[in-house]
Amino acid sequence: MVVRPLLRAVIMGPPGSGKGTVSARIIKHFGVKHLSSGDLLRDNMQKKTEVGILAKSYIDQGQLIPDHIITQLMLNEIKGLDQYNWLLDGFPRTVAQAEALDKECHIDTVIDLDVPFETIKCRLTARWIHPASGRVYNLEFSPPKVQGIDDITGEPLVQREDDKPETVSKRLQAYDAQTKPVLEYYRKKGLLKSFSGTETNKIWPHIYAFLQTKLPDVSQKDAANPR
Ligand code: ADP
Repeated sequence: MVVRPLLRAVIMGPPGSGKGTVSARIIKHFGVKHLSSGDLLRDNMQKKTEVGILAKSYIDQGQLIPDHIITQLMLNEIKGLDQYNWLLDGFPRTVAQAEALDKECHIDTVIDLDVPFETIKCRLTARWIHPASGRVYNLEFSPPKVQGIDDITGEPLVQREDDKPETVSKRLQAYDAQTKPVLEYYRKKGLLKSFSGTETNKIWPHIYAFLQTKLPDVSQKDAANPR
């Protein structure tokens, strides 16, 4: 039996880059443990732990959690996973976090989803809603019969604050400013694997092929067509 070293991976990508979809596929095919800083924080907030209450005060103001708090939280979780392959998501988000992580473990690879901002903007701004009923339309997948108008009532559709082009641009700029130094940090170490493209389904086979050089596919069916 070949004993492979355990995989220590990080996935990075702006909001709307397909990171959630890709992470779910990696988990399904390669059976890795997925550790998301956002999920962990939400879990702590829901349970009203000390960290959760503290985190909420930052998140509510749209700020990042201070490095030492998120680092302690994540490193503590990582300790419990030392028998498993794992994939970090949402952490590290600053160079200080990446350095703290490096002190505790050796990262093997950083998967970077490199999707053009224009593509992401189109995706994220495609959602329109009819506020009174909560009906949701997507200009790409399920457009209304008449643009900007609810099919049933004929009333105007609106965009959520989060989905408006100005807000989406701001979120993408913030991501860029925060994470570029982290990408650069890993690039210098030779760990960054960037996957560029505009469609998740086209990027995925390359990520799959790359990870297959490191881990066996543990999903039962259809390894030949890895969706
Ligand atoms: P988003 O894509 O909106 O940032 P996440 O689910 O990744 O969503 O995280 C939610 C919030 O939790 C972030 O906006 C931030 O305030 C905080 N957060 C998550 N990960 C980190 C991190 N590594 N460092 C600092 N703050 C973080």
